[in-house]
Amino acid sequence: MDFMKDLGIKKRNSGVSTGTKWITPTSDDWLEVHSPIDGKKLGRVSRAGKKEYEQIIVRAQEGFSRWRQIPAPQRGEIVRQIGLELRQYKQALGSLVSCEMGKSLEEGYGEVQEMIDICDFAVGQSRMLYGFSMHSERPEHRLYDQYHPLGLVGVLTAFNFPVAVWAWNAMIAAVCGNVSIWKPSSQVPLTAIAVQHIISRVLQKNDLPEGVFSLLIGSGRTIGEKMLADPRLHLISFTGSVATGRHAASVVAGRLGKSILELGGNNAIIITPEADLKLAIPAVVFGAVGTAGQRCTTTRRLLVHHSLYKQMKKALVKAYGSLRIGNPLDSGNHVGPLVNQQAVSDFSLAIKTLREQGGKILFGGKVLTGKGYASGCYVMPTLVEAKAELPLVQEETFAPILYLIKYTGDVDRAIALQNDVRQGLSSAIFTNDLREAETFLSSAGSDCGIANVNIGTSGAEIGGAFGGEKETGGGRESGSDAWRAYMRRQTVTVNYGKTMPLAQGINFQL
Ligand code: NAD
Repeated sequence: MDFMKDLGIKKRNSGVSTGTKWITPTSDDWLEVHSPIDGKKLGRVSRAGKKEYEQIIVRAQEGFSRWRQIPAPQRGEIVRQIGLELRQYKQALGSLVSCEMGKSLEEGYGEVQEMIDICDFAVGQSRMLYGFSMHSERPEHRLYDQYHPLGLVGVLTAFNFPVAVWAWNAMIAAVCGNVSIWKPSSQVPLTAIAVQHIISRVLQKNDLPEGVFSLLIGSGRTIGEKMLADPRLHLISFTGSVATGRHAASVVAGRLGKSILELGGNNAIIITPEADLKLAIPAVVFGAVGTAGQRCTTTRRLLVHHSLYKQMKKALVKAYGSLRIGNPLDSGNHVGPLVNQQAVSDFSLAIKTLREQGGKILFGGKVLTGKGYASGCYVMPTLVEAKAELPLVQEETFAPILYLIKYTGDVDRAIALQNDVRQGLSSAIFTNDLREAETFLSSAGSDCGIANVNIGTSGAEIGGAFGGEKETGGGRESGSDAWRAYMRRQTVTVNYGKTMPLAQGINFQL
């Protein structure tokens, strides 16, 4: 595969880098990387041990003391150059994302485009790290707030967006004056190494110190845990499952550290009697089966008004029957593999449990075998008729399983069902009725971080703040004013007068 060579991926790769220099781990701890597409070995990665961990943290501290002195717009210029470099490697990196994670080539390219977009956004942001200026109650005083970088930002990412989530965090953190240390998922270390090669050229060309963008590949239980517990990391941005995120949150909170949590979702689309089904059906199918159901924003629950239920069910069974499942590098296929055998076992267990709990499989429910499915990671996208309250419907199963749920009554009833889960990431309604749409968007409406009208739950733009409520963790990343989470706010009062008045008019005479 030529693109691997172009990206600097070899048979054996170091998994530890300070941004400008690779460190060869001393321990003999190797990670073997296989593609979920066909099971082929893609390469080996050496994992960081205690010694390399310390080296990375010390370099990052040194790097921070220089990086924070560089004016924010000049930091933005570095990010601009990273964006240009990513443009050159979009095809190659997108192909590696597909090969290593198993998403379609289109989605692989799309993920790199997200990295490019966030670079562009961050360049602009580098000139807009605004604070407010307030009017002081005291004469000849100036009162304002300003923002300073936090320091070292640990970025722990999930397997399903191997590169984009890092870029959302690292690019915004960088223009804010922070340095970042990236621990990617052990499922997808090669894309992280490729990214590191791409950015290191920019860092070297600009004569930047080590430690501005570091990479630490290692297991969650060792390196991940160390990062969570380390008070030298001022912010932990954690993306992953609710279970691991809950643990991460408690460890970081235990040392009174700051965290951004981007955890699992259980996203629903509401189809009201006023829905335009021509829009709704492709949005539902893409939302449910895109990335083989392995997006945090994947559509998992479909709440359909009883008047349209039969029609919708028939249309979906037909649409599912036309899906082509196979190698995601072939643009003719709609659905690729799950990430690994464990994910396939989780899928099979979910199907068994659903049957036991009273769900009815309308389509799919099987693991695929035979020609083209040798990796054992391909499953059929699955449509299940279910009741909203089934225990498994309340959970996120990270696979292409869509629950078809009938509702009766008005839009308030549908909203109540949609909100009645512990997660709160993405939500959508299909309706041409203004009252229904605005009710869904009102304070009595969707309780999720993302609420869409007449588009599906998956596929967010980088310009908005991304994140969710409830068990999804409450974090916000990427656009809007998400940058504030990467900075510390300082309230400043300057007395430029010749007297010493106290606030609240307190009289204190010496
Ligand atoms: P995961 O929780 O298994 O792993 C996430 C990261 O945590 C990985 O880097 C992993 O190595 C690390 N980790 C594991 N154990 C750890 C420990 N004890 N201490 C510290 N780090 C540890 O998640 P996953 O399977 O890679 O990703 C899928 C999940 O991520 C889904 O639940 C999905 O919804 C969620 N996700 C959420 C968002 C979002 O923005 N809300 C985005 C992408 C994925």
